[in-house]
Amino acid sequence: MTVWYALAERLRRAGHAVDWMDGHAEWRCPDCFGHLRFHRVGDGVVARCVTDCRGDPGGRGERIWEAIADRYTAAFDDDADAAALRGRWW
Ligand SMILES: [Zn+2]
Repeated sequence: MTVWYALAERLRRAGHAVDWMDGHAEWRCPDCFGHLRFHRVGDGVVARCVTDCRGDPGGRGERIWEAIADRYTAAFDDDADAAALRGRWW
């Protein structure tokens, strides 16, 4: 999943139309790889583990974006672009 979204981000930044890629890799809990449930909170969205595997109802989105940023940096060696991903929580 993180590879897919890192690639999509790279292609998006190169000017390609890649919105279609967002629907082809399912976001999973970074702890148990289980499904996530998405809750609207204020103006944003929080991704919570369906099984609450760690007894922590907090969102998983920020950690997922961190993993995507790490993958992006490892694959493309571009910290400036990866830094923009690290600030995301959804
Ligand atoms: Zn989980």
